[in-house]
Amino acid sequence: MMKIGVLALQGDFAEHKVILKNLNVEPVEVRLPRDLEGLSGLIIPGGESTTIGKLAVAYDLMDPIRDFARSKPIWGTCAGAIFLSKNAKKEQPLLELMNIVVERNAFGAQVDSFEADLDIEEVKKASGDPAPFHAVFIRAPIIESVSGSARVLAKISDGRIVAAIEGHLLATSFHPELTNDVRFHQYFVSLCSKN
Ligand code: GLN
Repeated sequence: MMKIGVLALQGDFAEHKVILKNLNVEPVEVRLPRDLEGLSGLIIPGGESTTIGKLAVAYDLMDPIRDFARSKPIWGTCAGAIFLSKNAKKEQPLLELMNIVVERNAFGAQVDSFEADLDIEEVKKASGDPAPFHAVFIRAPIIESVSGSARVLAKISDGRIVAAIEGHLLATSFHPELTNDVRFHQYFVSLCSKN
């Protein structure tokens, strides 16, 4: 059975584990560098990106995750997307793996959290299901810009970027793990099976 890691330092890693299990993937909680062994991919959950970053530094995970990313897919949801970015316009530990600039809390406070239906062609095509993707945004970042080999995967109706891909690295501002729609996880699992 394929094993996919979920960084379990802080945030909603349990929700990702449930969806992976439903897709017949074995989820593995990652807290230490040795937990990365034998994994086909890694998910970095939503939560608080500064906390996740500080804990990753404390557990000596920064370079092992960067090494892992050379050959294996990584997907960051919300705080995880921030942690993957090259630039979050604030002093905080970042993996600096993706050529994206993010703006944290771009939609305002917790009360300004919202949900939106997104058309994400690539994910629709991969699943064969053309229904829009219901996306949950909780104190979400926007992806202000993409550069290098990063490209836009999804935008909200006002044109702001909320998902990007760069090779086998994936970033979403929203939380597919908080819905019943498994297509994004399926899409990530298919990236992992290609590597
Ligand atoms: N606001 C959080 C941050 O900046 C992200 C929120 C989330 O992951 N839902 O880290």
